[in-house]
Amino acid sequence: MINKKKIVIVGGGITGLSAMMEMQKRVLNEDLPVELLLVEAEPRLGGKIETVKHAGYIIERGPDSFLERKTAMAELAAEVGVAEQLVNNATGQAYIAMNGKLYPIPAGSIMGVPTNEESFLESGLFSDEAKKRAMDDFKIEKSPAEIDQSMGQFFRRRLGDEVVENLIEPLLSGVYGGNLDEMSLLSTYPQFYEVEQKYGSLIGGLREQAKENVKKMPYRGAVKGMFQNFSTGLQTLVDAIEAHIPKEKVRLSSPVIKILADSGSYRLEFADGNFISADSIILTTPHEISVQLLAAYGVMEGFADIPSTSVVTIAMGFPAEALKKDFDGTGFLVSRNSDFSITACTWLHKKWPHTTPAGKITLRVFMGKPGDERYVTLSDEELISLALKDLRQIMDLDGEPEFAEISRLTNSMAQYTVGHKARLEEARKTLAEKLPGTFIAGMSYDAIGLPDNVVAGRKYGNEALNFVMKQR
Ligand SMILES: Cc1cc2nc3c(=O)[nH]c(=O)nc-3n(C[C@H](O)[C@H](O)[C@H](O)COP(=O)(O)OP(=O)(O)OC[C@H]3O[C@@H](n4cnc5c(N)ncnc54)[C@H](O)[C@@H]3O)c2cc1C
Repeated sequence: MINKKKIVIVGGGITGLSAMMEMQKRVLNEDLPVELLLVEAEPRLGGKIETVKHAGYIIERGPDSFLERKTAMAELAAEVGVAEQLVNNATGQAYIAMNGKLYPIPAGSIMGVPTNEESFLESGLFSDEAKKRAMDDFKIEKSPAEIDQSMGQFFRRRLGDEVVENLIEPLLSGVYGGNLDEMSLLSTYPQFYEVEQKYGSLIGGLREQAKENVKKMPYRGAVKGMFQNFSTGLQTLVDAIEAHIPKEKVRLSSPVIKILADSGSYRLEFADGNFISADSIILTTPHEISVQLLAAYGVMEGFADIPSTSVVTIAMGFPAEALKKDFDGTGFLVSRNSDFSITACTWLHKKWPHTTPAGKITLRVFMGKPGDERYVTLSDEELISLALKDLRQIMDLDGEPEFAEISRLTNSMAQYTVGHKARLEEARKTLAEKLPGTFIAGMSYDAIGLPDNVVAGRKYGNEALNFVMKQR
């Protein structure tokens, strides 16, 4: 009998599922003597992806879509037979809420960097001085080569504080749940650094790049049709993947509590006292968990104090009449200096019409900022009351919601603070030396965003397979 090598994936979010799909394919195609197992703490797969359905509404508790331009999610969908259910966002324009009023994001903004001068100069979002200050970008020297800095430091220096606080910060924090003044430029948006290095000016460089190839632009503002989801929600992909993995290769409700290195192989211990052995492990758990699991080996010390932001999302359904003035757009982000509990709101009935029954509207608000853990501890009533208070100040909204779906996502957004890239390189190098065959992948490390998580899942799936095949 052939002695098979065993690879265990810890965590069944999109990273772990992608690693599993990739390895399963290769094991079958190349007839590799390798056994695969995925273990997940919760009774369901999907991790942060979770779609709930309520009286004709389709609500995402975590991510709401992904960038179509990054094709890894669509490839995965095609592999498991659900690509035909992909749909694109129906609107593009997003707004900023400032002093209780909604302002459209100026046309041509690329993650808040103004590239369309006319639209920027006409915008009510900035004072005349701020507009003038932003144009200093054409004269300001570039940053020293290859030294990491915070996104705040970079953008404030190039474009001034007001453009950062009224536009760039809400946009970037909306995606990363982070503090711009602590987030790493090189790990979050290296493209901005590269544009500055190549063209000197950020505005000028982005304009040039847009001319060269609009489709390749890595960070245009929201545009109609640039995001995708499935007509029945993101859970569709998770369920289809689950159906492609033999049942005996997945263990649900099985939190790993300890990993021990044991003369060339590993022992994973579970909360119920059981254990399994493995020749290679792919840890796709959030870094706080991975740090704990590997604590005995001093391999991930750089990540021990890295914070994660907790987020609350509330999706609320109303009769359409509740909204006296409807806007055309995807929703709004709240400017940094505004005194609101909510940080953003998506108009689901506009962005994703298929999620909302006829005659209804759905608003999904977000709460939670770095270092402010208050919201996950509040009761449902308190959260709904705070959300409605803010929404009524910003939009012409009347009446009570017919339902509210509240999701408390504790420590859900890992922060890529300054130095992240070097910290990650060090962790992977130390892992390879001290615990060979143990890999880390997932949203704490390489990227926050579903398509990039799929790419990382595949990459570390392949590394684990190559590792065990070399051992033979
Ligand atoms: C509110 C919110 C909105 C977002 N919106 C978007 C968006 O619109 N578009 C986008 O592209 N991205 C978005 N993201 C980011 C996206 O959700 C993540 O990048 C992605 O889901 C991460 O997948 P993952 O598999 O790396 O991690 P996870 O989904 O966190 O999976 C990790 C898994 O590990 C399991 N686990 C934890 N501990 C253990 C243990 N001890 N033993 C076994 N299993 C364990 C967990 O239960 C979980 O299933 C959003 C994130 C949040 C929080």
